[in-house]
Formats: sequence, structure tokens, C-alpha cells
Amino acid sequence: MSEKEVKKNHIVIFDSTLRDAEQSPGASLNISEKVEIAHQLAKLNVDVIEAGFPVSSPVQFQAVQRIAREVEGPIIAGLARTVKKDIDSAAEALQNAKRWRIHTFTSTSKVHMEHMLRMSSDKVLAKAVEAVEYARSLTPDVEFSCQDATRTEQAFLREMVQAAIEAGATTINIPDTVGYGIPHDYAMMIADLVENVPGAKNIIISTHCHNDLGLATANSIAAVHAGARQIECTINGLGERAGNASLEECVMALSVRKDILKLETQIETAEIYRTSRMVARLMGIDVQPNKAIVGANAFAHESGIHVDGLLKNRETYEIMTPESVGVTKTKLVLGRHSGRHGFKVRCEELGFEMTEEILTEAYEKFLVLADKKKEVFDEDLIALLSDETEELKETFKLDYMQVSSGTATLPSATVRVLQGELILQQAAWGDGPVDAAFNAINAAINMQPKLEKYTISAVTAGKEAMGQAVVRIKEGGRIFVGHGVSTDIIEASTKAYINALNHMMAHSLESK
Ligand SMILES: [Zn+2]
Repeated sequence: MSEKEVKKNHIVIFDSTLRDAEQSPGASLNISEKVEIAHQLAKLNVDVIEAGFPVSSPVQFQAVQRIAREVEGPIIAGLARTVKKDIDSAAEALQNAKRWRIHTFTSTSKVHMEHMLRMSSDKVLAKAVEAVEYARSLTPDVEFSCQDATRTEQAFLREMVQAAIEAGATTINIPDTVGYGIPHDYAMMIADLVENVPGAKNIIISTHCHNDLGLATANSIAAVHAGARQIECTINGLGERAGNASLEECVMALSVRKDILKLETQIETAEIYRTSRMVARLMGIDVQPNKAIVGANAFAHESGIHVDGLLKNRETYEIMTPESVGVTKTKLVLGRHSGRHGFKVRCEELGFEMTEEILTEAYEKFLVLADKKKEVFDEDLIALLSDETEELKETFKLDYMQVSSGTATLPSATVRVLQGELILQQAAWGDGPVDAAFNAINAAINMQPKLEKYTISAVTAGKEAMGQAVVRIKEGGRIFVGHGVSTDIIEASTKAYINALNHMMAHSLESK
């Protein structure tokens, strides 16, 4: 990071959705999904994208490499332990990015050094120095993290930070890895480092807070108030265990309370909502309705007094507008007569860039939908287009399905699935029509992945609304998520199941 960017009031937003959140329970993205999210993070204008942990697997390496090659704007970072082979792997994956950062880390708390690293503190420090020096010989942008900093003896933490600065680290991260910190205490820890470690004022001190006590955002804000200048965070607050500090909360707290914090970010806040939806959809992890900033109810007002006040003046109960974070009111967009041009324009406004070929396919699907459903809303289009623009090899295609169920019959399903030239057809029973359809598919493809979770929800209100199904399956210890939309919920469910199976097949090809 150049000197110019280290402005006094600028808070560097370091997004770790693709690293910390991606390693959280149940989250799993394929390479093209990671690239898609990274492009959206660039639109959101984050300063740094932590794209992954290259040495940890070939898929991680390839994902970081593709993001480094394709995504322009943000600095691309890769994680590495204080080990030469990790640093080499990160550097190799990152080298095609315009600007890139090696993020190396080691543990500094007694409990981690004794039980996990099994090294003396002197040895840990020497290895850290060696790693930072080596990383600096490869790139001018090196971040060093003291894992479990909030449970580290402050004297040793100071010593470590000073040694890392002398070795050439340009950002030093003080993570609350286990979510143990509380705002006042964490702020004092940061202030002590900024004030008392020689050279600390010339580099960036960073926060990385976990939400085990629900304090991740509060701790991050307290830390920047005390002198930290980078916040590590994730979209929707996803991450290990209770998650990380949420990007949208930290950014909007800095924006709404600029009066007292007097700090700035470069985030395009109007892209927040779309980014949140994309991450929720691709990771298959819903946002809780009352989640700050991006939850479904975050801008919903119900009580009579509040609604009355809002109608008179929005400021009576609103500290920020929905539009400022990109939440637009559901509005009637298109019908059958809008035409191809109107359809294309609206798609572009919603952020979908498509080739002519995909546009044609999507338009045909739109016409079918507009026949079934007179009013097509933005949400419907987003659901439809998300399906259409997915970059995924379709190993299986659903060719035909017949389901019968009723109060007096045992639900049964017949399906025909295409796998290349192969035609796979089977029938099966089930507890309900969806279960019967899934069983018939399993019989047809001769596989039995474990169904972890299945949900169906309406895309918009009204009885004509499209159903959006999300299916999570588990195979070989990994989770695969599938999506499907249709005005028919059984069809939506089956599409989602086939989509999850295709993700599973694509993963087995990627890992080869
Ligand atoms: Zn973390």
C-alpha cells in the first residue's frame, strides 16, 4: 500500500469473506462462485480482498490465482503461515495481480504457543521475523497477524509487533481470534501498541474480531477509535463459529456516526445489499431477518406510531435510508409487453452483464414466467438471472418429471435425467412429493448424497409468487449448495437438487 493511501482518516476495509467465512461450517464455494463474489467485492470498492489460503489445497490455490488475474481494483491478499512453502505458494498464486499482499500469521498467546505450536516464545518470534523478511523480499505489501492477540501477554505482544515492523511488515493485525475481547479493553490494547511500539505510527494496525460475544462490530469500532486503521470483516458477518465483524455494520457505523468518529471508508455503500444477497445465495446461508443493515426487517416499520412518524418525516425513525445501502422498494418492473430491450435494460440496472446468447435464453424464460405471473418484480428477475448466469458444468439435466400425491395416495415420482448421451429414468416413493422426486433422482443417477438441509421460500409476496428452493447436500465431508426457482415448488425443489448434484460433480472434477 502506497504512502498516499495511508491517509490519517481512511479506514482500510479488508474483506475476508472468501477466506475466513469460506472456512466456516457449511460454507463452501466453487472457484467460479469465488470469482463472482470477488468481482462484486471490487464493485463494493473494498480496499483488500483476502482471496484464500493458497497452500491449503489445489482448489484454494486456483481460486486465489484466478481472482488475482481477473479482479481489478482491490489489493488481493493470500494467507500463509510463517513457513516458507506457504509464503511461496501465496506469492505464486498472487503474482499476476496488479497489487498483492502476503498475509502471514502465527499464534502469540501462551495457550496457543504451548499446546498448538509447541514452541518457545523466542522461537515463535524468530520464525515470524524470518517469514516477514522473506515475504518482504517478494512483495512490498506484507501483513503480519498475531493470532489470539487478545489472550496474549501485552509485553510479548509489543515485542512481537516491534519485531515484525523492523522485519518489514506494513500492516500488523491484532486479531480477537476467539471473540474474547470487550470494547474498552480491546481499545486500550490497540492504543498501547500505537502509542508505545516504535514505528507503529508508520504502519497500519488492523483489527480482526470474532463475534462469540456479539461484540465483533463494537470491538472493531472501538479499535479504530483507538488508532487502528484497517478493519478485517466479512459480508453478513459470516465466519468461524459465531462469525466475524460484519462489513456492512462496520462501514455504516463509520458512515452514520462520522460526526464523532471522523473516519472514512471508500465503500460504495449502495452495493452493500446486492453483495449481501449474492453471498447469502451462493453460500446457501440465509441472513437472519433482524440482522442490522441487510436483514429483511432492517428497514421495515410496523408499529403505528413509527409508521405515522415516518410518513410525516423519514428522519423520525430512520438513521439511514434503505437506498443508501442499496435496498430499493419492490416495484413492478416488467410484463409480457416490456419487450426484449426493456428486459435487457432492467437486467443491466440490476447488475447482470450477459452475453447475447445468455440474454436470449434468459428472455425466453422471462416470457414463460410473465405468462404464469402477470407482474414480474426485481426479485423475480434476480432469482431467474442468478440461475441463468451461473458458470457451472451441468453433468445432469432434468429432462422430464411426473409427480403424484394426494391425501389418499402414497406420493410417487418418475424422473428422466440426462447425463451427456445417457438417459437415466427411474421411479420412487417418498414421504411427500419432493422426497419422492429426490429419491427417484438418486435412483436414476445411482448416488445417495446426504441431504443436509432443504428450504423453500417465496421470492415475492402473493400466491402467484415464484418459489425459491435451496438444497444442501453432503458428500465426502463437503457441503454443496443448489438453487432452483419456479412458480411450481416441486419443480423449484427438483431443480435445486439437480443444481446441488452438479456442484458436487464439478467439485470432483476441479479437485482432480
Ligand atoms: Zn478469523
